[in-house]
Amino acid sequence: MGCPVCGGKQVGKVGVNQYYCWNCFIEYNERNEVFEVAEDGTLMAIEPEVFSDPITQATV
Ligand SMILES: [Zn+2]
Repeated sequence: MGCPVCGGKQVGKVGVNQYYCWNCFIEYNERNEVFEVAEDGTLMAIEPEVFSDPITQATV
């Protein structure tokens, strides 16, 4: 399962059903819920409209 944002395979497992993308610097889970990781380690949910970035679409 690649990153739901960039589709990349540079991901690592960080927890149960939770993964980290080294390309996007985000975490995501198997429900494709995406979280940005703050400097203090806090996870902040990213809204789906972020995915409408043209660069992201171009990689699909
Ligand atoms: Zn990614």
